[in-house]
Amino acid sequence: MTTATALEARHLVKDFRGFRATNDVSLSVREGEIHAIIGPNGAGKTTLFNLLSGFLRPTSGEVALFGERIDTLPPHLIVRRGLSRSFQISSVFPSLTVRDNMLVALESPTNLPGQFWTPLSRLETLGPRADQILADVGLGDAPDRLAADLSHGEKRQLEIGISLTQDPRVLLLDEPTSGMGSEGVNRVIALVRQVARGRTVVLVEHNMSVVSELADRITVLQYGQVLASGRYDEVRRDPRVIEAYLGE
Ligand code: ADP
Repeated sequence: MTTATALEARHLVKDFRGFRATNDVSLSVREGEIHAIIGPNGAGKTTLFNLLSGFLRPTSGEVALFGERIDTLPPHLIVRRGLSRSFQISSVFPSLTVRDNMLVALESPTNLPGQFWTPLSRLETLGPRADQILADVGLGDAPDRLAADLSHGEKRQLEIGISLTQDPRVLLLDEPTSGMGSEGVNRVIALVRQVARGRTVVLVEHNMSVVSELADRITVLQYGQVLASGRYDEVRRDPRVIEAYLGE
């Protein structure tokens, strides 16, 4: 049985004024898997995420979502094709309540910063959906709290909730456990498992215990290139990977 490819990078190159941050990266994410992108600082993980989600244009190479090229599309059209990306706190309005943040995101054509346009008064019909997503991300008891008052971990939960408003088929999560203690990390692991049901998830993650818990397959980047890619338990035994990263 073959599994469909959800997201594919083909020979991606990204140059920044002569510096090659992404160097011939090819990557295949299968539908339904959790795929982790790991690598040392400066390896090109963020640049790759920006290329996959349309925030950067590749110097050369292609990105395909379910077989169709998206690398020429602006980010909001990529969201409509089914790929959503978490934006840490930048898509959260601190002065709104948790629930109003969800309502604004639900009514927005995309969840991208700066794309919100609907008056709050028109948003009430979306309440049940907002409440459902809040319950799904573990914020069901916090709808009336101001986003500004949430803990770091709760903001990440809200952030993931906002990306779910677009009901993406592919969800990109950028370091969902960064800055969290072990309790928060465990909550995020459970949350990612839950949102991955029926979805494809790609995450950049530094915490190797999170990667080992969550990832079906991983891609290891080093100096802008793919050092290894495959099932977690295979890749972690690759001597090059141990030397470059896991053995630190
Ligand atoms: P990672 O997320 O793995 O830490 P990045 O993708 O942020 O790595 O960066 C990869 C390399 O590309 C780094 O050397 C970084 O300095 C460089 N880089 C990233 N963005 C830019 C940019 N806009 N202009 C110039 N260099 C950049």
